Amino acid sequence: MFELPEYFTLARQINETLTGKVIEQGSLGNTPHKFVWYNRTPSEFAALTRGKTVGKTRTQGRWLFIALEPGYVLTFGECGGKVLFHPAGSPVPKKYHLHLAFTDSSAFTATTQMWGAMELYEQGQERNRQYIRDMRPTPVDPGFTLEYFSALLDELAQGEKRTAKGLLTQDQLIPGLGNSIAQDILFRAKLHPKHPIPDLDKAQRRLLHRTILKTVKEVIERGGRNDEYDLYGHAGGYRRVLDKNAAGRPCPECGTKIEKIQYLGGACYFCPSCQQ
Ligand SMILES: [Zn+2]
Repeated sequence: MFELPEYFTLARQINETLTGKVIEQGSLGNTPHKFVWYNRTPSEFAALTRGKTVGKTRTQGRWLFIALEPGYVLTFGECGGKVLFHPAGSPVPKKYHLHLAFTDSSAFTATTQMWGAMELYEQGQERNRQYIRDMRPTPVDPGFTLEYFSALLDELAQGEKRTAKGLLTQDQLIPGLGNSIAQDILFRAKLHPKHPIPDLDKAQRRLLHRTILKTVKEVIERGGRNDEYDLYGHAGGYRRVLDKNAAGRPCPECGTKIEKIQYLGGACYFCPSCQQ
């Protein structure tokens, strides 16, 4: 699944490549998939996108907003899979969940892996969508300060018991993060995935905040993770410290064998010595 850095990379590349292109034909999925959320019928989508020009693209958390001028915003959220540009003359995948053919014979397709929203809103309406309307600051927002982060932890300490992995992956408490990047953040901040949030002292809070910012920045700079693809079909350049092959390998810091547990809806890798 894409996380914030992959969306960031896609937004940058769409701005570089698709801006100014005019849609000749917009189509929704030709392959049935019950976990793709559409808000338009295929014929509505075709009628509303015809003749529109691709404007500015922005991203927020795990969402991507592509302006279709005049008046509309194509909105992708919570997706994985492939979001691809196809230069004129290159083949387009047979199966897709969304397809835009441009007047210059190039094209854009999106195919999601597990689930995802592919919706078309009148400009501005996308901000009222569930999950976007009340989104908390993401780690690339200026509002994601140590003061904000500390207040978030205080707030969480009042409610249900959250753990370090829960903070990074549940309920979009920190929008844009997911299971993949969370593993490296916890490793670098030397926190066990089950470490209770209320137990974090001041220094640990500061280290965790700094590690979130640093890790997100690094993955963005490398164009996303190496197990995800960018707009041009290239894998990203960030190799995770704790990826799915990590279990049993020596920890890069101390040499202890990395362990794997199932925790909070997914595999979790950690060094039992560094992350206590
Ligand atoms: Zn270690």
